[in-house]
Amino acid sequence: MNDSLADRLDIDSRHIWHPYSAMHSDLPVYHVDSANGVYLQLSDGRTLIDGMSSWWCTIHGYNHPRLNQAARDQLERMAHVMFGGLTHDPAIRLAQSLVELTPAGLESVFFCDSGSVAVEVAMKMAIQYWNARGRPQKQRFAALRNGYHGDTLGAMSVCDPVTGMHRLFNSALAQQFFVDAPQCRFDEDCSDEDIRPLAELLEREHRQIAALILEPVVQGAGGMRFYSPAYLSRARELCDRYQVLLIADEIATGFGRSGRLFACEHAAISPDILCLGKSLTGGYLSLAATVASSEISDGIDSGDPGVFMHGPTFMANPLACAVANESIDMLLQSDWQRRVAAIEQQLHNRLSPCLELPGVADVRCLGAIGVVEMRAAVDMASLVPRFVDAGIWVRPFGRLVYLMPAYIISDAELQRLCERLVEIVAELADDG
Ligand code: PMP
Repeated sequence: MNDSLADRLDIDSRHIWHPYSAMHSDLPVYHVDSANGVYLQLSDGRTLIDGMSSWWCTIHGYNHPRLNQAARDQLERMAHVMFGGLTHDPAIRLAQSLVELTPAGLESVFFCDSGSVAVEVAMKMAIQYWNARGRPQKQRFAALRNGYHGDTLGAMSVCDPVTGMHRLFNSALAQQFFVDAPQCRFDEDCSDEDIRPLAELLEREHRQIAALILEPVVQGAGGMRFYSPAYLSRARELCDRYQVLLIADEIATGFGRSGRLFACEHAAISPDILCLGKSLTGGYLSLAATVASSEISDGIDSGDPGVFMHGPTFMANPLACAVANESIDMLLQSDWQRRVAAIEQQLHNRLSPCLELPGVADVRCLGAIGVVEMRAAVDMASLVPRFVDAGIWVRPFGRLVYLMPAYIISDAELQRLCERLVEIVAELADDG
């Protein structure tokens, strides 16, 4: 483009919507020229250490030679081909890996294009399964408050009703059942009191509930909360007792983020249906997968109309599948468990001093996730530019300032990222 940077930003501000933003907004957007490793290169010459991994995705960092090569190799063969009646090795290999790596019993893979669609697919699978089993009244879902599952209407219906603004979409959204988010923290047990809201809901309403959907152990965009794996085990038991399927949304937690390859492993449980996305391609391309047990896929096959009613145009896009295969190989060949554990330790050591600050309510870290929860909502409009001026990319929301860096971040880079974040949070406290 020949226009000046200011002209291009002007076109952006006049014509492009950004996530959860007004079309014409005073919030700045920063123009990225390139990205490499954990660094974002802005077009104004500044370089930022990325603390967000582009929303949980770029676990190997940006512009990785192996991922680039995998994309190039696949591009030479075919970028895309329809999946109706055709198949290809990138999808076959990826399905095989997902079946092997995900919790036991998950055998049937549906590829789609984004996390929200993976959730839609999971919900439709649950409804079709119960229909096939002669239980057509099981069409509703149970979900946890503070949950986040995506932005499409079905996924939104199971997001936290307050942060998901259900009142705006009242008659467009299916009405689901919500229980309070688990109060037991990650390192605590789960008491009868903790599980009671879910137990009571399932006892009362199980005849109309197709599935419980939750983010195992880490609730992401709905509050960045970590809860006890024992809650997850008890939820699994309750689902079995009341014939309610369990959908685990591991779109954010999948591929090592919580310290285990999948967060379900903290509780050694298998869901009936698992949703994956985000870091599946190492953050290169939009690809997601919904993986079901054969009980679910056999059930759907045996019912009316005998097929699963979904089929996106870009299903199993070969380019995305090829990069996903390379990303998974790279992860498994790396010492990721030790690295994620070291990141957790460093996040804990470097962010915990924030607890002394008057404006800070809580600091919590799990795997490669570090959260500073403030007492009051932060002003993103003034805070983000301060982070950028300090050379770090951190995008807070609500009361939460948080980091989820790439696993390849070095100790020195993470130290710089944390130190600058802590300095600015401390300045906030001084500002009052
Ligand atoms: N589920 C969870 C747990 C997520 O974190 C997200 C994305 N933030 C989604 C679903 C939706 O994924 P996408 O934005 O790719 O549609």
